[in-house]
Amino acid sequence: MNKDYFEQLLIKTDLSLPAPEREPERQYYFIKKLRGIYTELYAKKKRDLCYHVETYGCQMNAKDSEKLAGILSMIGFKPTDSEKNADFVIYNTCTVRENANLKVYGRVGYLGNLKKKNPDMMIALCGCMMQEEHVVKKIKESYGFVDLVFGTHNLYMFAELLYECMLRKDRKPLVRVIDSSDKIVEALPSEQKYGFKAGVNISFGCNNFCTYCIVPYVRGREKSRKPDEIVSEVAEMVDNGVKEVMLLGQNVNSYGKDFLKNKAAAERMNQAVDFPELLHMVSMIPGLMRIRFMTPHPKDLSDKLIEEIANNPKVCKHVHLPLQSGSTEILRKMNRHYTKEDYLNLVKKIKDRIPGVALTTDIIVGFPGETEEDFADTLDVVEKAGFASAYTFQYSKRAGTPAASYPGQVPEDVVSERFDRLLALIHDTSDKLAKKAAGSVSEVLVEEINAEKGTLTGRMNNNMLVHFEGDEKLLGELVNVKLIECKGFYYLGELI
Ligand code: SF4
Repeated sequence: MNKDYFEQLLIKTDLSLPAPEREPERQYYFIKKLRGIYTELYAKKKRDLCYHVETYGCQMNAKDSEKLAGILSMIGFKPTDSEKNADFVIYNTCTVRENANLKVYGRVGYLGNLKKKNPDMMIALCGCMMQEEHVVKKIKESYGFVDLVFGTHNLYMFAELLYECMLRKDRKPLVRVIDSSDKIVEALPSEQKYGFKAGVNISFGCNNFCTYCIVPYVRGREKSRKPDEIVSEVAEMVDNGVKEVMLLGQNVNSYGKDFLKNKAAAERMNQAVDFPELLHMVSMIPGLMRIRFMTPHPKDLSDKLIEEIANNPKVCKHVHLPLQSGSTEILRKMNRHYTKEDYLNLVKKIKDRIPGVALTTDIIVGFPGETEEDFADTLDVVEKAGFASAYTFQYSKRAGTPAASYPGQVPEDVVSERFDRLLALIHDTSDKLAKKAAGSVSEVLVEEINAEKGTLTGRMNNNMLVHFEGDEKLLGELVNVKLIECKGFYYLGELI
């Protein structure tokens, strides 16, 4: 849905009536109210009012931030890169790692100083971290200058909460965090970061309860968006120039399973669609060139999905398959529901069916109880799987997760020594793989202009990056590039 469509909705919104009960009409009502308030403020200040959204964490948060930015833009704010110039600052937080929380507290302290110089500045905090009681308590106690706090389940109510916040009698933080919601509100404005590629939520939450992960506690149980809503959102994006979409879910393989709890109803409403079928439906959209997805869980990546990736030319030949550990015993403690052998068999199946596929992964080093033998299993899988790249993490205790209280926490120096060995092996294997492609020609989507160097950066179908000389006008286009030299995680290339 483009901006004109949203503007039409605002025009139709009648502020002389009480706020509608239905969503998203209710949120448009509050956007319009806020537009009135901010128009007056704008006239008083005689300058644009600016917002700054800072995003921490994963792609899901990045997508949520686009929604926050969309709502702020509709109210009448303009974006700014720095908190210093902003009238409204919002931090969309992540709580996967405890030191990420500390970083946020540090930044909020800094905002407090800015607010002393600019008392009209408004500060909001949202995202996963706000779903934790102790965090909210700390904010109330130590950061009383924050204006608004809300969580992941009511992000769609941002306009309404902001309006409520404007009506406060005191300047204490308005806190609106709810424990869960099965609501998915469609058709809210969103400010896409790039015109040519976009992320699209297909589901929210997770049912897996890996023992190191806080996501199921802060994002709630899995809920899927309706397939027709997803397809029409992507079609609209493509009409507006998007060439590549990334379908987003904590575990995309479970897409649609919640609908099937009532199979007959799902069939009646054309919602009995699983993830491979959804991929296929999205790929039928004319003009869409590439589809990516993130993240599948190895425990239930089906043959049907492998076939869809193999046979569908629009689906990128890149599978991000989080390993986490190569040790069956550690995987059991992580509650991952697969063994070392299951993982390697899956890798073999994927590689056999999708020649040239790029596999990437996530690995945690030093999970409680990890012995040298367990770690050797991880190295063994890395060697055998041949990952194009990997996100590697040193295990750090996450309060609120079962693993935080597991015995056998591994000493820091041991974790760090294993981590270095793992990194060296990954560099080595990915380097060898990447070198093989040097000299070939690849289609890339031009994603960035590097003004200083006068080069462009493009992303290949397998997710690798290539830098090459070219005209800025190529931004957002698909072009062919010859890969001249491999530099490890990227190539230098030549436009052909
Ligand atoms: S699959 Fe596991 S690691 Fe991923 S979000 Fe769910 S609980 Fe967390």
